[in-house]
Amino acid sequence: MTEDVRRKLGLRPVINVSGTMTSLGASIVVPEAIAAMSEILPQFVEINDLQRKASAVIARLTGAEAGYVTASCSAGISLAVAGAMTGDNLLTIERLPDQTPVRNEVIIQMGHIVSYGAPVDQAIRLAGAEPVVIGQATSTHRFHMENAITDKTAAAVYVVSHHVVDYGLLNLIEFVEIAHAKGVPVIVDAASEYDLRIFLAQGADLVLYSGHKFLGGPTSGIVAGRKELVRHAFLQNLGIGRGMKVGKESVYGVMAALEAWEKRDHAGIRERESGYLRLWKETLDGRPGVHAVIDPDPTKNPLDRLRVGIIAEEAHITAWDLASALANGDQPIIVRDHEVEHHYFYLDPCNLHPGQETTVARRLAEELDKARASNEVIATPFESRSRHRFDGLLRWPD
Ligand SMILES: *Cc1c(COP(=O)(O)O)cnc(C)c1O
Repeated sequence: MTEDVRRKLGLRPVINVSGTMTSLGASIVVPEAIAAMSEILPQFVEINDLQRKASAVIARLTGAEAGYVTASCSAGISLAVAGAMTGDNLLTIERLPDQTPVRNEVIIQMGHIVSYGAPVDQAIRLAGAEPVVIGQATSTHRFHMENAITDKTAAAVYVVSHHVVDYGLLNLIEFVEIAHAKGVPVIVDAASEYDLRIFLAQGADLVLYSGHKFLGGPTSGIVAGRKELVRHAFLQNLGIGRGMKVGKESVYGVMAALEAWEKRDHAGIRERESGYLRLWKETLDGRPGVHAVIDPDPTKNPLDRLRVGIIAEEAHITAWDLASALANGDQPIIVRDHEVEHHYFYLDPCNLHPGQETTVARRLAEELDKARASNEVIATPFESRSRHRFDGLLRWPD
């Protein structure tokens, strides 16, 4: 590797075992996308023609009729919803989000209103649409959805994510069936999913992916699906989409990342990642109060993670204090800690550079040895952790 740019900038050289996180710089961009971006950056292109080329690549990989590239999957939600409301009426497009079209309601299950760093329902409201929330946190039935669809319904949004409630809700096939029976298009947020075809195959009208997650492209969003709906979302570039634009480098970078994805040695990568998990598990097995289990991805992506459960009294440290100790070292290691109040965190193997797995194993052993050697249990009350969650951000840039 060339000299680490982070050293030059005075940034901490973090090792990412958290997953694909915007807050950590998303993913390792694949060499094909980096090369494509450098190649196109000095040239002028007619951007809508470039997007036409992107449409063809997106269509080939997803099975969609058409597609285009925008700033992010989050932008894709706003733009897809906007398109479902405005159609190709350029005046309405220009007036969003103020002039709300006749059809301005968007159906979404309560158990799908999650935060991926910002709330899903805000991405809907940004377009000027009004979310119509159906069901309760852990239950949606057909009657909830059937009764919520009216003449004002513009679309229905379905979220696929480890963040959503994973039982008691309508699955995509039922959701589509109910929406289509009343002529309502279904938009699927599949930001973080590997399978580029399944949601359209299950009847979604539009599907949205992040370019910068598993695909390893530049920060971007992919909108794919029925040609007319894709066009209506694309036309938002004359309106609210302007603030969500991508440059030529991102469009071409995503095209290259998609083509690289098609050729990627998925089995080989999985094998390498399994090796990391085995190494970490061997490092942890037999340590008092530490239980390491290999867990499959909750939305069935072909990816496993190591769940590291901690019994504080035996390990002499809580799961969250261990996560903080790893994050505070000279080589900061950021673990996947969304559920850490349950006394476990995950180690995600999919964003590592080769060799970093041994640093992770060594640091785990060091911190656990140190905790065991201490006479007191290292146990910060969980409440104090949540109380200070946003301190740093609220002081930014200082
Ligand atoms: C990451 C994520 C998003 C946001 O994607 P961006 O491309 O980063 O805007 C939206 N929805 C889900 C389910 C996500 O996981």
